[in-house]
Formats: sequence, C-alpha cells, structure tokens
Amino acid sequence: MREVELIMTPPEPHFVGDGFRVHTFIPSSYRVDMHRMNPFIMLDYNSKHYFEPTDNPRGVGVHPHRGFETVTIAYKGRVAHHDSSGGGGVIGEGDVQWMTAASGVLHKEYHEEEFSKNGGWFQMVQLWVNLPSKYKMSPPKYQAIENSHMNRVPVGDQGSFIELIAGDFQNHSGPASTFSPVHISNAKLKTFDSVEYCFPKHFNTALIVIEGTIEVNGQAAGTDNFVLMSNNDEKFNIKASDDATVLVLSGEPINEPIAAHGPFVMNSRDELVQAFRDFEAGKFGYLQD
Ligand code: MN
Repeated sequence: MREVELIMTPPEPHFVGDGFRVHTFIPSSYRVDMHRMNPFIMLDYNSKHYFEPTDNPRGVGVHPHRGFETVTIAYKGRVAHHDSSGGGGVIGEGDVQWMTAASGVLHKEYHEEEFSKNGGWFQMVQLWVNLPSKYKMSPPKYQAIENSHMNRVPVGDQGSFIELIAGDFQNHSGPASTFSPVHISNAKLKTFDSVEYCFPKHFNTALIVIEGTIEVNGQAAGTDNFVLMSNNDEKFNIKASDDATVLVLSGEPINEPIAAHGPFVMNSRDELVQAFRDFEAGKFGYLQD
C-alpha cells in the first residue's frame, strides 16, 4: 500500500485579489515544495467561505501567465473568467475550467455577477499544472468542463461514485485533454463506503478532503486537510467516515528544471527574462480590465 507521507491542516489563508481567500498547500513548506507534487506546481485552496452581497464583483484583475495551465475546480459559488485569446465563461458548482496559458495569455477572474449580488458560500481549488518544455510556447487553449460531461464511476454500494475530470479510473476517462499524464477526480462517498485507487508508483499523488471526514489506509483525515501520499507503492484506500467529497490528484513528474517567478513558469532564468520582456512589449495580447 502507498503510505500516507503527511497530513497537513490548512496554512493561514491569504487573499488573491479580493475574491479568493486561499490556503496555499503547494508550495507550502520544505516538504511540499514546487517539485514534490510535480507536475502540480501550485495549489490554492479556497476553503468554504461566505461572501457578503456586493454590486462590485470581487476577484482578480488582468494579469499574465506563461508556461503552464491553470485549472479551477468549483465546489461552491460561481466565477466568470475572460482571457486575451478569447477563452472565457462562467463556471458554477461542480464545473471545471482548464486554461492552458502556454505561450501566454492575459486573464481576469471575478465572482459571477448574480452570485456577487446575492452573496453566498464560495469554495474552490485553483491548481497550476506544469507543461513539458516542448509545449510551453504552444498556442493558448481553453476547456470549459461542465459537471454533466464528467464520467461517473459507481463505487461502494450506497450510491457513491468517482467523478472524473482528467485521466482514468478503472476503464473510464475524464473529459479534460492534458499535455502529460495526470489523473484528477472527485471521490463522492457515502458514509462507510470506500474506494481503492491505483496509480503508478512514481506518479506524485495527494488528496484534499473537501467535505466530510475520511480514513486513508485507516488513518483519519478531516475536512480541509491535504494528504500527501508516499511514492512507495501504487494502491491506497479511501473510506468515508461520514458523507465525503475528496479531490484526488496524481501525475507523472515532468523531469525538467523549474524556473518560476510570479505568473511565469519556465525551464530557465533566460526564458523567465524573455517572458517579462514579451509581456511588457504587449505580446500577450490585450484584455479590458
Ligand atoms: Mn491567474
């Protein structure tokens, strides 16, 4: 069995813009740096938070990205996204937005207008998935993945299921197209149901308990905990202690150097300098604030 390497409670939250109150699980310490969960190089978790009604949607204004993908998984609340390559849309509960910044985009992320007016509970994950060097300068791409497009694979015997976003589970696969092998799913488990996951040993693997309480190979993990799995074996088991939603991430490490600064993730310092130059020269396009 794959051992539990670390169970982390959420680090102190901070705000991204004024719309995302996040705990940064990756990178968060010397044990979980940008390499440890490679190709998942950054993970911000907006634990369940109530936003008061407002006429001015909260969020993050126009900013650039190059060299990787941003994946937003919505559990509660609604966000609107626009980018300079023409991608955009609104995602709500259960939906995923998969933006491939690659050679470069400008984008902005705000709470959707109606949601902002009414206020409400907000809970999301934003994940950065690194790109292999040969795809870092490929054209930007946008995938809006609605919840209804995700395959649901039944597990246990009380109506539990695995909701597939990317990669495979048993003989089913998720709708997202990816540039390197990654598996992303939500395990939606009823009390006492369990599921066994199996990923190649060298795939970096972790879970976030979005809702409820679980046992991972018999070890308890509560709501909002990040569970890092060791690379000692392939299989592990998740059992729900009460009704639970668990985000499960596993990916093949991209064995290339990581040069990261702010919104750019490249392979060398020279490429980072080039990214800043191209951004300042307006080569990322235009987006109205
Ligand atoms: Mn962004």
